[in-house]
Order: sequence, then C-alpha cells, then structure tokens
Amino acid sequence: SAKEKGKNNYQFYTDDLNEKATRKFQIENALRKAIDNGEFLLYYQPQIDLQSNRLVGLEALLRWQSPFGMVQPNEFIPIAEETGLILPIGEWVLDEACRQLKEWERLGFPLIKVSVNASARQFRDPNFSRKVDGILKKHQVDTRFFEIEITESVMFDVEEASQLMEELRKLGIKIAIDDFGAGFSSLTVIKNISIDTLKIDKSLIDDIIGNHRNLAILSAIIQVGKNLQTEVVAEGIETKEQMELLKSFNVTGQGYYFSKPALPEQFEKEWQQEKVWSQQR
Ligand code: C2E
Ligand code: MG
Ligand code: MG
Ligand code: MG
Repeated sequence: SAKEKGKNNYQFYTDDLNEKATRKFQIENALRKAIDNGEFLLYYQPQIDLQSNRLVGLEALLRWQSPFGMVQPNEFIPIAEETGLILPIGEWVLDEACRQLKEWERLGFPLIKVSVNASARQFRDPNFSRKVDGILKKHQVDTRFFEIEITESVMFDVEEASQLMEELRKLGIKIAIDDFGAGFSSLTVIKNISIDTLKIDKSLIDDIIGNHRNLAILSAIIQVGKNLQTEVVAEGIETKEQMELLKSFNVTGQGYYFSKPALPEQFEKEWQQEKVWSQQR
C-alpha cells in the first residue's frame, strides 16, 4: 500500500541520513590526525597562456589519502571549515606549496607561479597575513611567484576583507578571485578590491559553444577583467572547441583539456625532457 511504501521511504531516508552523519563523523575524526599521519598531498594543475601555449602557473589542489581511501576536497574541505581544522590544514598547504616551489627552483626548473586556495575561515583569522608572511620568509620564497585564491564568500565584511587583501598584496603576494561568476556578489568583490587574477568559474565555460547568451555573458566578464588589468583565467576547459573560442579572447586556460591535477613528478619529468607546452594538445 501507499502507506507502507511511505514508511519504507522514510526508513530509507533515515538510513541515508544516519550513513551521512556517520561518514561525516569518521571524516572529522580522521581529519584531526591527517596532518600528523602525513596523509595530505598537493597535486598541481597547469595554467596555460592560450596564445603562446606556455605554462604560466600551477594551481595547488589538496588531496587526502585517508585511512578509508581518497577523499575529495569537496567532501572534506567543508568539514574542515566547520570544525576549524582548515586553519592547521591551510597552513600545511601553504608550507608544502612553498617547499615545492623552492624545490623546483633548486632543481633548476623554470620559475612558475604557484596558486594556493584559501578558505574564508582562514581569511577571517586576524593572524592570516602574518602567518603567510612567516611561511614565505621561512622558505625564502619570491612572493611574485606566489598567489592566493579566494572566493567571493570572503566578502563577509568588505572593509575587513579589503584590508586583509591589501596586507597580502603589500607582501608582494598575488590575489586571485576564484569561481568568479558562480555566486551572486562577484561584482561587489572586484568593485571594492584590487586583485591580480580573475578566475572565471567552470559553469560559465561549460555551455559557451553555440549558446549566444552564455557567450555574451562570458565575453562581458572577460572584458571587465581586462579593463581592470587583471589576468583572466578560464577554469574547467574540457574541449578543443572551448579552447579555440577562449584563445580568441586572449586569456589563460586551465582544465582537463590540458591536464588533470597531477603530482609534481609529472611536471618534473616533462621539464626534464624539455617537453615544452608550446605544442598543440
Ligand atoms: P577550485 O579551487 O575552483 O579548483 C578547481 C577544481 O576544478 C579542482 O577540483 C579541479 O580538479 C577541478 N577541475 C579543473 N579542471 C577541470 C575540468 O576541466 N573539468 C572538471 N570537471 N573539473 C576540473 P578539486 O581538486 O576536486 O578541488 C575542489 C575545490 O576544493 C577547489 O575548487 C577548492 O575550492 C577546494 N580546494 C582544493 N584544495 C584546497 C586547499 O588546499 N585549500 C582550500 N581551502 N580549498 C581547497
Ligand atoms: Mg582554486
Ligand atoms: Mg574555481
Ligand atoms: Mg571551487
């Protein structure tokens, strides 16, 4: 009967909720030990200048090899934010990215900008810029090759956020706005703050082929970025068609079309083989 069916659905629903709560609890507990256990890794994804086909940057993306397998950032980052664990994890990410940057320098590889993601919670830490400064100094990183990516959600308080960003920029660090155009307040961010890079969200790149409305919006956003003299990065390029179209806009591209995020060794191998990024892919 319908009543029984409803009951069953309810059963499924609560089972599902219990399962989710249990997994969240497991993740939270395992996350507390993940740094000490050395379970985090940074992968890197290339950013390519579409005109010259040259590698211009690498975005560091966190990976967690947990006791119960690989867990994706979209699952564990929100939990890390909720619990405050993002603060030590975020510091680990900054430290590891700086270590890697220096390691590449030591090995004689081309100096390439490395971008690191920071969450709003880290940004709200009043000591954030001091911590970043300390880590950069510890590794003696040339700040011109270091960028921090943040999303519009940091704009909880425009005054406070712009002050923090100015502090970071005074250190010579570049600031990128990530997932630009995905939320509602994107224009508020760039209206109030000087930034170095605009990263256009994948959702605005997805349906540009043969869709005039989407293309109109994308080209307007690119123009805004160019008028503000920021570097414009198109995120999530997956096809040749998208790449060709974006090439005509003269932006930087990032996406599976060029490469998925990969371990540092992959780039080292390519640099060693002097395999330059100047060939068509
Ligand atoms: P994000 O910073 O916007 O990073 C881009 C995401 O899109 C990455 O997912 C990347 O692997 C994925 N991606 C890149 N190109 C393509 C493509 O062509 N197609 C598709 N389908 N996806 C593509 P990932 O690595 O799973 O990271 C997800 C999000 O987790 C990141 O989005 C970022 O918000 C957050 N995250 C990752 N690492 C860190 C970190 O170290 N700290 C903080 N606070 N957040 C991080
Ligand atoms: Mg990012
Ligand atoms: Mg993004
Ligand atoms: Mg994102």
